Amino acid sequence: MNKSGKLETPHPAYDEISKQAGEKKDSDFDLAITGGRVIDLETKMDRMADILIRDGVIKRIEKPKGKLRAKQIIDAKDKIVVPGLIDMHTHLREPGREDEETIYTGSCAAVAGGFTSICCMPNTQPPIDNQEAVKFVYQKAKDAKCKVYCVGCITKGQKGEELTEIYDLVRAGVVAISDDGLPVPNSQVLRNALEYSRMFNLPVISHCEDLNLSANGVMHEGFVSTTLGMCGIPSIAEETIVARDIELAEFTGARIHIAHVSTEGSVDLIRQAKKRGIKVTCEATPHHFTLTHEIIKTFDTNAKVNPPLRTKKDVEAVKRGLSDGTIDCIATDHAPHSVEEKEVEFDSAPFGMVGLETALGLVVTELINQKVLSWAHAIAKLTINPARILDLKGGKIKRNSPADITIIDPKASWIVDPFKFQSKSKNSPFGGRKLQGRVCYTIVDGKVVYEG
Ligand SMILES: [Zn+2]
Repeated sequence: MNKSGKLETPHPAYDEISKQAGEKKDSDFDLAITGGRVIDLETKMDRMADILIRDGVIKRIEKPKGKLRAKQIIDAKDKIVVPGLIDMHTHLREPGREDEETIYTGSCAAVAGGFTSICCMPNTQPPIDNQEAVKFVYQKAKDAKCKVYCVGCITKGQKGEELTEIYDLVRAGVVAISDDGLPVPNSQVLRNALEYSRMFNLPVISHCEDLNLSANGVMHEGFVSTTLGMCGIPSIAEETIVARDIELAEFTGARIHIAHVSTEGSVDLIRQAKKRGIKVTCEATPHHFTLTHEIIKTFDTNAKVNPPLRTKKDVEAVKRGLSDGTIDCIATDHAPHSVEEKEVEFDSAPFGMVGLETALGLVVTELINQKVLSWAHAIAKLTINPARILDLKGGKIKRNSPADITIIDPKASWIVDPFKFQSKSKNSPFGGRKLQGRVCYTIVDGKVVYEG
């Protein structure tokens, strides 16, 4: 009851999120994001709203009222406001190849691309296969512009033979285990890894490649590789291991996450497995839903990736998989390489391209504008879905959640210029490409860490 003796009536709720009784006045907020279209699949929100942030946390989400007082105000009129993007597959090259990327420079590239959280893969030099190495990453990550989560190795030295001390890695804070860059060729070793990881409900991220089938391949095995006289990597090099991993996941009851799905056959296998109730999730990269093996005719080594760029039919299948929910996440597989390393003949160039700063533009241009995905579903694959798989706190715009937010201008067109990237490496085949959708602000724990 208030002073006049009347019962307090609740403030009219703005849908499910209402102003809390006893909440402080506007000027006590650190940041207000006003008048934007807020899209969040987790809370089923797609409407104009003001967001008020204090102490790094989302405190209020309410109907736009025009005038707000806060220490900092961002006018998000005509902008789209989404949960901070999460990239569950990033290579940061530290330790070992700090000339190509460090945890810090990778985080700068991440926030420039709208990512507020990234998960770094353990195939560094040396690989992240013990507790000390995980601690090193988290120590370095304290200076990063975004949140950095560490993935640990499945096997010691990524040699595929002896399991790492998985419990030690979990205690040091890894969010998943993976030998990414390489498969785990020995099925018994992977079975043991799945049985251990199940005890901690930890996802195992699988790089699916039969090394005997991919052998010396440098691009997709097909018409183009034959024409160019290049050694091919057949689709079955990926699909046989996807099939094996699904069987092992079913047998052990553990969770498997298939990295960078690239073929029609893989998408079909995962679709069927999900129907059978097997705990399998997967991701696709922007380059695998955008480019085909035709680009290799230019001999651009920046388009040399593993798994390789496939056929038009595969690209269509990946898009169908994204659209029908078979593919849960969009992940960059950001793989920095120096100019010197890539400026060699095609056969000797390393695999990989950078992706953090082009991912959102490609999602908007290739998926949203082409009506493959709605805004809400596209953003979910970059936010709440990876957050659920890895058990991260972010990925949603919800009261009392961390204020990790990305503000996007959906109409802004821009031309990709790799030499303007924040990443230390420039190995992108998208230079000169026109994209729509640009990051205006990236906000981590209520602080603006990037302004575009
Ligand atoms: Zn990989």
